[in-house]
Amino acid sequence: MRKGAITREAVLKTIAEHDELGRERFLSAYGFGRARSYLLIHQGQEYDSKAIAGVAHKWDQGRALRSEEFSGGKDHAAGWLKRAGFHVRAIKNPDWARDEIILACQLVMDNGWKGMDAHNQQVIELSGLLQLLPIHAEGERNEKFRNPNGVARKTYDIATRHPDYRGRKTNGGVLDGEVLHEFLARPAEMAKAAQLIRQGITDGGLQTLPPVDDEELDEYSVPEGRLLLRQHRARERNKTLRKKKIAAVLRQGGTLSCEACGFDFEEVYGDRGAGYIECHHVVPLHEAGEARTKLSDLALICANCHRMIHRRAPWPTPAELRATIEAGRAADLNAAIVVEQRSTASTAAEATRDQPQASA
Ligand SMILES: [Zn+2]
Ligand SMILES: [Zn+2]
Repeated sequence: MRKGAITREAVLKTIAEHDELGRERFLSAYGFGRARSYLLIHQGQEYDSKAIAGVAHKWDQGRALRSEEFSGGKDHAAGWLKRAGFHVRAIKNPDWARDEIILACQLVMDNGWKGMDAHNQQVIELSGLLQLLPIHAEGERNEKFRNPNGVARKTYDIATRHPDYRGRKTNGGVLDGEVLHEFLARPAEMAKAAQLIRQGITDGGLQTLPPVDDEELDEYSVPEGRLLLRQHRARERNKTLRKKKIAAVLRQGGTLSCEACGFDFEEVYGDRGAGYIECHHVVPLHEAGEARTKLSDLALICANCHRMIHRRAPWPTPAELRATIEAGRAADLNAAIVVEQRSTASTAAEATRDQPQASA
């Protein structure tokens, strides 16, 4: 049995069976609960998408799937139904991403750290902007996605987490508090990041970025949010820029070795490594903006050092990382010298001890 291989006909037959039995009897007959994440919409009616997808297997594959055999999410039930040409709608909107919270937090900061109401013009404007952010796929959103009420609620989630706020916190996530603390610690930089995200959405620059593997981005720590990080990665991966940078370094008599640790791919890997090096864009995210990348904004960096730079914010510059590496090497060298001295000293001591004592 291949899970998920269901046809449109099988789904239609299942819907007919559902309508005949009625929702509750259908669900209990096949052991499903009510949908929690996605609804199947068919001819204006709502259906529990997971139950329908599971039972549809009966027609195509001889037996209905049991609830515990698959998920209702987009990788399973919701995805299969979409593939069969059905309309599936998210029940719950996705959690707020850091970028979205940054934009809301900036509004709250500008408002003296007070929450704002749904009829506030800036809240309405932000609601429109958030709907344009290329972070959550259409299929993950429902009709209430980031509407003014939701945005207003978020401004209170943020405001009530401010250290000076004395009342009760509203609901909200851990991320609200994290972003708030970034704003309190680095207000100018975070406001600049918010402004860059806004600007990038308004002029379309952030919407047209080439897709980046979001799983890879998850490993990066970035207070400024995912969109500016995507922009950073797109610049670093721009093949033309990389070629120009490499050509410029070679023209000036340089080598393609890592600016932080000195690693040279060709030296270590021979022909296979020839011409290989990564580029790191050294301008901080909150400053990079729409400005065109200059070759001097790029540093040649090996894959390991590049990972280490991005691993934790604030990102060290290649020179700072080099200093760390050199300090580590110096410490190693000192330790080696101490070990060497100790072993020389103990050999000498042993030599003395082993000498036959002259008898008196
Ligand atoms: Zn390196
Ligand atoms: Zn980088």
